[in-house]
Amino acid sequence: MLPKDNVLHTSTYDVKKLLKSFDMGYQKIHACVNDCCLFRKNLKKAESCPKCKASRWKTNMHTGEVKKGVPNKVLRYFPIIPRLKRMFRTESLAKDLRWHFSNRSSDGKLRHPVDSVTWVSMDATYPSFPAEQRNLWLGHSTDVFNPFNMKTSRYSSWAVLLVNYNMAPDLCMKEENIMLSLLIPGPHQPCNNINVYLEPLIEDLNHLWTKGELTYDVVSKTTFTLRAMLLWTISDFLMIGFVCGVKDMI
Ligand SMILES: [Zn+2]
Repeated sequence: MLPKDNVLHTSTYDVKKLLKSFDMGYQKIHACVNDCCLFRKNLKKAESCPKCKASRWKTNMHTGEVKKGVPNKVLRYFPIIPRLKRMFRTESLAKDLRWHFSNRSSDGKLRHPVDSVTWVSMDATYPSFPAEQRNLWLGHSTDVFNPFNMKTSRYSSWAVLLVNYNMAPDLCMKEENIMLSLLIPGPHQPCNNINVYLEPLIEDLNHLWTKGELTYDVVSKTTFTLRAMLLWTISDFLMIGFVCGVKDMI
């Protein structure tokens, strides 16, 4: 089907190797089966959850034998910092990321989040942040999806997406510009413990807000400290309760 001299990879292993060289991989983080904690940092070597005592590993249903090395639940985290930094290495993207700086509405009409009250009040509260036009204005969205689109399956996963509002309205909502940051495993909803799963993402967002990351910009051919602000979260009514950790809202 493909021409003989094509350079397409023939195995998943080769594709993974290529993606790794671009820092486009993801981290697998083991999680407690009851959503209490992630087995990272001081729990990296823990064998069971310190809160509910559930085993980190799967158990054979018939023999009761613990399958050491086979985790009960795995969170997939797609690190955002290397991906955000890399956007400034592509000239067209780096230019698109400056759109918001010079395209604010002048007639008082709302055409883009840059014209919103939230954006304006953030401008006023943290004046050093908008002074750098390359700083990123992000939104966070969480929703449930059925991985294989099987209507009969009750297995649900949760996706956490980041929307980049630096770009023009027709670009920031495009599929390729919306960033998948977390895949939270099912089969059930993580209830109000979703914050446990958000931990790695929030840590990176905090770092981008407080310290920033030295980034090369291909347009100016200089480096600068890239910072990011999380403007808001977007979710349906069910999810608001989960994200806020308020069970009674549901
Ligand atoms: Zn637990």
